[in-house]
Amino acid sequence: MHTQKLLAALPKVDVLLWQPCFVACNPKILKPIVQRHIDSVRQAILQDQITTTHPNLAIHITQASAGDLRDTLTQFLTESIAQEYDTLTTSSLVPLVNATGVVLQTNLGRSVFAPTLFEQIKPLLTRYCNLEYDLTQGKRSSRYAHANAMLKALFCQEYEFLLVNNNAAAVLLILNTFAKDKEVIISRGELIEIGGEFRIPEVMKSAGSLLVEVGATNKTRLTDYERAISPNTAMLMKAHKSNFAQMGFCEEVDMCELSTLACSNGLIDYYDLGSGCVADLPLATSLFDTRTEPTLYEIFASPPALLSFSGDKLFGASQVGIIAGKPHLIARLKQNQLLRALRVDKLCISALQATLQAYLRNDRESIPTFAMLSLTSDVLHQRAQELLQMLQSRALKTINTTIIEVDSVAGGGSLPNKIFQSVALALASTALSVSALESRLRKEFHIITRVQKQQVLIDVRTLLQGDMERICEALWALDKCVCLDSQEESRKRGGR
Ligand SMILES: *Cc1c(COP(=O)(O)O)cnc(C)c1O
Repeated sequence: MHTQKLLAALPKVDVLLWQPCFVACNPKILKPIVQRHIDSVRQAILQDQITTTHPNLAIHITQASAGDLRDTLTQFLTESIAQEYDTLTTSSLVPLVNATGVVLQTNLGRSVFAPTLFEQIKPLLTRYCNLEYDLTQGKRSSRYAHANAMLKALFCQEYEFLLVNNNAAAVLLILNTFAKDKEVIISRGELIEIGGEFRIPEVMKSAGSLLVEVGATNKTRLTDYERAISPNTAMLMKAHKSNFAQMGFCEEVDMCELSTLACSNGLIDYYDLGSGCVADLPLATSLFDTRTEPTLYEIFASPPALLSFSGDKLFGASQVGIIAGKPHLIARLKQNQLLRALRVDKLCISALQATLQAYLRNDRESIPTFAMLSLTSDVLHQRAQELLQMLQSRALKTINTTIIEVDSVAGGGSLPNKIFQSVALALASTALSVSALESRLRKEFHIITRVQKQQVLIDVRTLLQGDMERICEALWALDKCVCLDSQEESRKRGGR
C-alpha cells in the first residue's frame, strides 16, 4: 500500500554505518549485519508485511512525513543492528551461580579453581615461561617433567606420570599404544558410557583395539578373564564404575587379582580409575554400599602397570588426563605420534601444578571441589542462616523462604552411591510458578537452582565467594519486578 513511500524512507548502508553508536564497532563485522537487516526490512515492505514481520516498527505510515518515516526506520534498524552486534561480540561464556549443590557438573564446567591458585599461575599465562626449556642447560626439555616430580612425590616414586587432554584421551593413547589390533579383555559390567554419548567400547574401537567382553552385566569372575586370554591378547583392563553403582547379586574382580593374572601371562594390566579420589570424604553417607571409594593412595599401595584418571573430577584441578605407569611403559606412550595430538598446554600444566602444590602442602581447603565436598553440616547451616539474614535485610513481598535439609550428590560421574547431606534455602513465590521462578533466576540472573517438591532450592554447599550477594540482589530485583507487574495488572483492571 505504502510500498514506494516506505522504500524511499529506507536508510542506506552508509547512513547506518555512520551512526554515532557504531563508532567503536569493527566495520568488517558490522557491514554484513547492516546489509542483512536492511534487506530484511526491504523484503517485508515489498511483501506488504512490515507490521507483521516487524511489529516493533510502530510507525503511523499514513500520517508520517517522509522525514519522520526515515528517522523512525533509521532508529529501528540502528537498534536491531546494535543488538545483533552486541550478541555476536559478547562472550557467550558467563560465570554462573551453581546453587544446585552438585559439586561436579560437567555442564557447568566441572571443577572450579580457587582464586588463590589462579593468582599463582597468572604470570605463567601472561608471560613467557620455561614450559619446554631447561634453564640450567639452556636446552630444550620436556613439558611433562613439571608435574611428574610432584606426582611421583605424592603417589609413587617408582612410577612415571604423563599428561594428556583428558581421561578419555588417556584411554585412547594407552590402548592405541599397547593394544592396536590386539585384544583387550574387559568385564561386561564395565562397558560404561562416560557421558555425552561417549562410551568406553567405542573409544576402544577408535584406538584400534579388539574388545573382548567377559562375564555378565552383574557378575564377572577371575576365571572369565583367564579363559578369554588368547595369543592375541595384549591387555587386561578394568574401568572403575565411577558414574553408576550396582547393588544386589553382583561381583567383580579386584584390580590386584587382575594384575596378578596379567603378570603371570605376560600381559599389561590397566585400570581406568575415572575420578581419582585423593582422600576419603568421610562426610558422605552411603546409599546402600558401605564400601568407600578406593583412594589414589590405596591404589598406589599395589598399583597396576598402568592407570589413568581425570584431573577435573574429584581430583579438583583443571581438565587433564593423568596417566601413571611403569617407566618402560610410559616411555613407549611418549613415542606414540598420537601424543602430539593429545598434548596438554601450559594452561593445563600450570593449573595442575598449582593444585598439586596444594596437595603437597596438605592444603585441601585450596581445592574448592574437595573443600565443598567436605563441608560439615554445621557450616552448611551457618551459611544458610547467613544467606537468609542477608535476604531478610530487605523485605520480600512475593517470595517465602525456609531453610531445609536436602540430599545432594558429588556429580560429574563420581561417587554415584554416596549422598552428601546438605542445607538449602527453599523458595516459594506467591506470584510466580515454581518453573517460572527457576527459569527467571536462570535466564535473567544466571543462577542455577534445583526444583524439588514444588520448591526452588538454593543449596548452599556449592556457593562460592560473592554468590550470596548475587542471589540476594537477584531475588530483591525479581521481587520488585513481580510486584510492579502485579500493580500494573490491577491498575489496568481498575481502569477498565
Ligand atoms: C569420566 C571418566 C572417563 C572420561 O574422563 P574425562 O576426563 O571426562 O575424559 C573415562 N573413564 C571413566 C571410568 C570415567 O569415569
